[in-house]
Amino acid sequence: MLPLSRVTRRYGDTLALEGLSLTVPDDTYVSLLGASGSGKTTLLRLIAGFEAPDQGAIAMNGQVIDAMPPHLRDIGFVFQNFALFPHLNVADNVGFGLRHRAVSPVANAAEVNDRVRAALALVGLDGFGHRAASAISGGQRQRVALARTVVTEPRSVLLDEPLGALDANLRARMCDELRAIRERLKISFLYVTGSETEALTMGDLVAVLSDGKIVQSGPPDVLFNRPRNADAARHLNAWNIFDTRALDTTVPAPQMAVRFEQIGIATPGRAPRGHLSLPARYLAGEFNGPTALHFFRAADDSLVQVVEHLSQPRLPAMTEGDNYHLHFAPDLAREFPGAP
Ligand code: ADP
Ligand code: MG
Repeated sequence: MLPLSRVTRRYGDTLALEGLSLTVPDDTYVSLLGASGSGKTTLLRLIAGFEAPDQGAIAMNGQVIDAMPPHLRDIGFVFQNFALFPHLNVADNVGFGLRHRAVSPVANAAEVNDRVRAALALVGLDGFGHRAASAISGGQRQRVALARTVVTEPRSVLLDEPLGALDANLRARMCDELRAIRERLKISFLYVTGSETEALTMGDLVAVLSDGKIVQSGPPDVLFNRPRNADAARHLNAWNIFDTRALDTTVPAPQMAVRFEQIGIATPGRAPRGHLSLPARYLAGEFNGPTALHFFRAADDSLVQVVEHLSQPRLPAMTEGDNYHLHFAPDLAREFPGAP
């Protein structure tokens, strides 16, 4: 277990992490979802030991590791912009860390060979050892970077937006592979991403980081279906969040959220009985292949999105600039305290 408790990190006037608490359990894929600048890389750098927290503590298996140098922490790191040694072949790139690690370096060539071969097989690069690092594709380079990390048998691996440079198809495939590789290794991955899709599909646990704080963490389905606050909901790219004064009825909670696909559309006054109704002006529609996305502006100025799955059309024809009543069953909505 790797618990972080109330960790704070400042850079001058910037509060990069603010009293952050999070536990990375053993043998778990943890996704850390956050926008650019939310503190994701800072958090990984503190866990790896490249920097120290200003306040708070990081522990590993019951021992506080704040004073432990990075090379003794048993933690692997795969960077956002990974770099292989271009003059070495794939096998030597992977073996480098093993030969040169601070604790029990491996000098025996046969042992290095065996372990490199096993690491390459693990990431699906059997037989690529002799290739020049400069003669493989982006996806393969990313797998070499991962092999180079796991060959040292770390207790956990930190991955900082490792797929950012890859195209969408390859990204999706690498995501599946990363999950499978972690399951085989039975170690923990802390995977940082700005993509809610990646975070939700890959993580056994998903933690949402916003302005240096974890706003919610939990299993992906819990997070997606029951975000605890507006901050968490905003990161899932599936929830409309609005001031309840924009509704045409009074409700106790100041803020409410409802999912894009759970909103019906009626002409004014025609919302079904028992539904909450949110008057809004239709702005525009957008087709995305199997779905259409419709944009509205509510009275609190919030942008409301409504998804229609085109295999099951359910929405009326709408005219841009006209007013409609967006409606939904109250039990599908989340109520949030606090000012919007
Ligand atoms: P993320 O990885 O989520 O994009 P970072 O952890 O890199 O976010 O940065 C969090 C905040 O801390 C940002 O406001 C960033 O500008 C600031 N920051 C990060 N590293 C430094 C640094 N070395 N010096 C000054 N400010 C930094
Ligand atoms: Mg970063």
